Amino acid sequence: MRVLVIEDEHKIASAIKKGLEQESYAVDVAFSGNSGYDLAVSESYDLIILDILLPEMDGIEICTKLRAESIHTPILMLTAKGQLKDKVTGLNAGADDYLVKPFAFEELLARIKALTRRPKEILGSTLIFDDLTLDTLKYEVKRGGRIVQLSSREYAILEYLLRHANRIVTKDQIIGNVWNYDADVLPNTVEVYIGYLRNKIDKAFPKSLPLIQTIRGFGYKLGAED
Ligand code: CA
Repeated sequence: MRVLVIEDEHKIASAIKKGLEQESYAVDVAFSGNSGYDLAVSESYDLIILDILLPEMDGIEICTKLRAESIHTPILMLTAKGQLKDKVTGLNAGADDYLVKPFAFEELLARIKALTRRPKEILGSTLIFDDLTLDTLKYEVKRGGRIVQLSSREYAILEYLLRHANRIVTKDQIIGNVWNYDADVLPNTVEVYIGYLRNKIDKAFPKSLPLIQTIRGFGYKLGAED
């Protein structure tokens, strides 16, 4: 597992590097926005840890540019305490999760593990998470082996959540990926569909783990509760 750390505070960067190397990750560090961006584009990583406040190019700009170039490496953003606006901007720029500084190393490690744990795919067509499966060829969803009937919109939202399992997705991201570009969709509409999905995927299976989590103020995450 190879990780890129883009962080200009040397103390934090080297503490992350040391800790991750002890967990047998390979770690590259960049201390400026430009050098970090260059590495992210030229090398291949399993995860990028990205600070927001950086010299030359800030974390939000790096994230936006990487996503615009179709680089989908999971990005964990580091934000300063209380910068709620930064977190939302970061997630909308394409970051997958965020961590508020200062943080405990164990917390960082837990986030990294969650982000690099992607849903398993069988024959490239079935997305699996826990006992939930979605067959992208048959458009068939099952929980615990039982078929779940979904509308096409519910199916599309669930597929998006599954492809981003264990990561926070914002309502804007869901709207941007599930509805047409010119559709006039309000965030409330997403909440309504998430409600339908939750009834069919979670509430109908009380013996299974609830999988659709609401992340207050940000959006949703498909995964076990923290
Ligand atoms: Ca910084």
